[in-house]
Amino acid sequence: MIVAGSRTRRRPLWRRAFRAGALALGLPTAALLGLGCFDGGSGPPPSILLIVVDTLRADAVSAYGNGLGTTPTLDALAAQGQLYTRAYAPSPWTVPSHASLFTGLAIDDHGVGLHGRVVLPETATTLAERLGAAGYETAAFSENALISADFGFDQGFAHFAVRTAEQQMDAGEKKSIDVVDEVTRWLRVRDPQRPFFVFINLYDAHEPYAIRASNPFLPAGITTADARRLEAGRRTSHLICDRLPGETPLRILRGLYLGEVASADRKVKAILTLLEATGVDNLITLVTSDHGEHFGEHRLLDHEFSVHEEVLRIPLVVHGASVEAAQIDAPTELRAVARTLVDWAGADSTGLTAPGLPPESAAQPPVDLVAVYSDHRMRLPPAFDADAAQKVQDFKRQACGDTDRVFGDMLALTRYPFRLNWYARYPSEMVDLRSGGGSSDSLDPPSPELIASLRAEAQGFAARVGLGQARAPEPLTRESEEALRSLGYID
Ligand SMILES: [Zn+2]
Repeated sequence: MIVAGSRTRRRPLWRRAFRAGALALGLPTAALLGLGCFDGGSGPPPSILLIVVDTLRADAVSAYGNGLGTTPTLDALAAQGQLYTRAYAPSPWTVPSHASLFTGLAIDDHGVGLHGRVVLPETATTLAERLGAAGYETAAFSENALISADFGFDQGFAHFAVRTAEQQMDAGEKKSIDVVDEVTRWLRVRDPQRPFFVFINLYDAHEPYAIRASNPFLPAGITTADARRLEAGRRTSHLICDRLPGETPLRILRGLYLGEVASADRKVKAILTLLEATGVDNLITLVTSDHGEHFGEHRLLDHEFSVHEEVLRIPLVVHGASVEAAQIDAPTELRAVARTLVDWAGADSTGLTAPGLPPESAAQPPVDLVAVYSDHRMRLPPAFDADAAQKVQDFKRQACGDTDRVFGDMLALTRYPFRLNWYARYPSEMVDLRSGGGSSDSLDPPSPELIASLRAEAQGFAARVGLGQARAPEPLTRESEEALRSLGYID
C-alpha cells in the first residue's frame, strides 16, 4: 500500500528510497593502534558529531577542488583536520550505505541491500549501541525518513528525531524537521557530564531540488525562473538514457544541486556554532556522505542502477582538537568510520574485524573495496509500496539499452587505482580511476594478472552472496503505466 493518506499526486516516499535501486577519555593505548594520525591524549572522552550530507559527491565539496565555494564550513574543517581524498561508499544508495556506516560491516556481512533486504537486523551491533554501552549519550536527527526505526536504524539511540514518512511524501516542498531546533532542544535536557554521540542526516542535496530566490551556482544567464521551468513537471530521476536532457538542462540541474549542497553546509555551520555556544569542548566532528550523484555521466542522473565513480566517491572529513591536520590519499571506505569512532571512544570493538580509517602513511587498504548494487525487488516496511516501487524502476529503465548496463546486479571491486565493474547481465569492465573518466592511454595499464585476480574475486563474491539471481525486468503494460501515472509516481 501507499503511505496512509497519500493517494494524491505527491512525490511518493519510496521514490527517494529507490534512487539507487528500486533505493577523547583516557584512551587505552590499544585504542590508538592503527590510528597514526590521531592523538587522543588523556582526559575525558570526546563527544562525537557524525554528519552524513546525503547524496554528496566528493567533487561537490570545494575542499576536493571544485573551486566554486560551495562548502566553506566543510572546507574549514578539512583545512584544520583530516581530508580523505579517496573515500568510497559501499553502495550507490542510502540504506545499505548507512547500514555499513552504523555497523562497520561490509554489505555481505550485514546483508542490507542484498536480495531485497532493506531493514538492518536486530542482531547487528551498531555504533550507537557500542558507544551507549561505553557511557555515551546517544541521539540521532534524520531528515531522511529511510534512516528511521522502520529500517532498523534507531538501534542504540536513546533519542531519535526523524522526518516522518508523511513529511517526506511532501518532499516536493522540501519539508523537513528543523535539525538545528531539534538539536537545541535536546542539548537543553541532556546530561552535560557525559560525552555524546550525535548522528545527523541532512537531506538538502537529495533531489528534488529547492528553487531558491538566489543561487550563485546556476549557469551564467540562467535565472531562478528558468530553473523553475526546468524542474516543473519533471522527475529528474526519470530522465536517464534516451530521456537524458541536453547540456544546458544538465548544467541547471547541477547548479540546483550545488545550491542545496551549500544549504547543507550552512546547516553544518549552524550546528557547530550551536555546540560551541553550549560549551561543548573536546568534540570530534566527522562529515561524510552515503553516496554521490550522477549528472549525465554514463547517461545517468540520480544514484540508481550504477556502481560508477560518481556515485561511489564521497567526501570524508575528520576534525577535532586532537586530530592532526592531514590530507590522506590512502583509499578507504565508509565502514571504517565505525571502527575508528569506537576506538576513539574506548568502546567495545568485538566483532569489528575491519580496520579503521587509514593513517597518512598507508598506501592501500588491506582488502579490495567492494560496492554492490543489487537489482532485486525490495522487501519494504509496510508503509511503503514495494510493487509500485519496482514498476517505477522498470519505467525509468524503459529508455535504456544494453550498452547502458543498468539492469541486473552489479559489483565494483576497487584495488586503487584500478576498478573492475562486474555485471550479472553484461561483460565486466576495467576502469582506471586516475583517468577521471577520460582516456587512460598514457597511464600504466593494469597487468593481465591483476585483471585475472579481480575477475576471480568478483566472481567468487557474486557466487558467495548469490548475485545474478535477480529477476529479469518485466515490460510495463499500458494499464500499469496509467495506474502509476494516476497515483503521481510517473509523469
Ligand atoms: Zn542517500
